[in-house]
Amino acid sequence: MILPVRIVGDPVLYQRASEVEEITDELRELARNMIETMIRFEGIGLAANQIGIPLRIITVDPRCSGFNTDPFALINPVLIDQEGEEEAEEGCLSIPGVYLIVPRAERVKVKGIDIDGKETVIRAEGLFARVLQHEIDHINGRLITYYSNGKEV
Ligand code: ZN
Repeated sequence: MILPVRIVGDPVLYQRASEVEEITDELRELARNMIETMIRFEGIGLAANQIGIPLRIITVDPRCSGFNTDPFALINPVLIDQEGEEEAEEGCLSIPGVYLIVPRAERVKVKGIDIDGKETVIRAEGLFARVLQHEIDHINGRLITYYSNGKEV
């Protein structure tokens, strides 16, 4: 099911999302819908609060960095290590038509829980690392506009 994406200005985009306590069938369905929505709108990442659900769930598409891995959901993701810094232009499904230069770590290590409830650690670099950082920002209530204004808009 395609879900409507919340647009800049919506309060749900500016709040810290809550930890997921339990992985239920309902949550798995939400994750599937998020992946479908992300692909439909040609995104490479999506955070649950972008579809109005203030929970710490993100979906990412590793194919953006050339990996032959299907898009997947990551629950309660935490950035546990980062290295380097590079600036690049980023867009966001919640801010249509706007592209801003955002500094990000070049390489990251992210810990989280997969859809089967298994703890997983993801090492990423380049665009895939950028997407992970962008989505973790989302669940912390931060949009890309933060980096150009120093404040939320
Ligand atoms: Zn975004």
